[in-house]
Amino acid sequence: MRDAGVDTLMAGPGADLRYLTGYDALPLERMTLLVVEVAEPPFLVVPQLERLRAEAFVGDSIEIVSWKETEDAVALVASRVGEETGTIAVADRLWSVFLLRLQDAFNKAQFVASSPMMRMLRLRKDPAEVDALARAGAAADRVAARLASEKVAGRTEREVSRYISDALEDEGSERVNFAIVAAGPNAASPHHEPSDRVIERGDALVCDFGGTIDGYCSDITRTFFVGDAPVEFVRLYETLRAAQEAAVEAVRPGVVAEAVDAAAREPIAAAGYGPNFIHRTGHGIGLDEHEDPYIVAGDRTQLAPGMAFSIEPGIYFPGKYGARIEDIVVCDERGARRLNDASRELIVVS
Ligand code: ZN
Ligand code: ZN
Ligand code: ZN
Repeated sequence: MRDAGVDTLMAGPGADLRYLTGYDALPLERMTLLVVEVAEPPFLVVPQLERLRAEAFVGDSIEIVSWKETEDAVALVASRVGEETGTIAVADRLWSVFLLRLQDAFNKAQFVASSPMMRMLRLRKDPAEVDALARAGAAADRVAARLASEKVAGRTEREVSRYISDALEDEGSERVNFAIVAAGPNAASPHHEPSDRVIERGDALVCDFGGTIDGYCSDITRTFFVGDAPVEFVRLYETLRAAQEAAVEAVRPGVVAEAVDAAAREPIAAAGYGPNFIHRTGHGIGLDEHEDPYIVAGDRTQLAPGMAFSIEPGIYFPGKYGARIEDIVVCDERGARRLNDASRELIVVS
């Protein structure tokens, strides 16, 4: 905080709070707030009814200050902190309903985003964090392997999405974050919501899903084809696979994030699919599904051991089909270590 010129840090429910305290707080309309002053012991403000749950996470590692239903939580924070005339850093995900009231209460302070400071802590995962990401990734791999032998033709996207969610839980996920199933023309929409569309022979099938283990996220995409794939789709898929491989190969300490994006883009552009690769190559992952660094032109973060992120190029033809291959990798001393290793072949399902 001193290095960043921050006097007080305030974080509501979300990844920063969990990172700093271990508390997986519920995002409620009642205020929960971690307050860290540079020269004082930190404290955690929680609604009284959340006190036992908070204690279960943090034990006595931090003072918990609870407020009753009729009390004013912001006034409580103000009375503890006193007049703050310096800089207050607030977590990115603190709701405006709380931030606006805090800005009123601390009207002499300057409010800034905490993310430039927090990213220095969260960007490089320590061995325990990498281990949690690896376990989350292995669970997702097992689900992908199960999916490859499922019969999907005749089932709806929604039914297969449900199957994936259940499988993620079976494999040890404490939470299912999302389970995208996009068949046929829907596969051209990267964030397609699973619908009642029946999956048919001749469909490309994009499945992108993730859950959470010990708070850390998984995120994997595999593309299947229902029945034999036409040659033009096989060509597209082989290009995509080469691009994903090239991007993984490009990962090394000292390389900038945008260079990994460029490595994925080059073979796709060379094959004539450049305009059909419509999103960044990847995103950091940790306690949040999407966090720094971003694998995209303009992100000049120098990769370093412990950084974990997705590599997920995609090629999309609206009205027709699409394909994406996504793995989580972690940068180590030599290069990328993949945290997903389910087959990346184009798997034909029935
Ligand atoms: Zn996404
Ligand atoms: Zn994904
Ligand atoms: Zn992703």
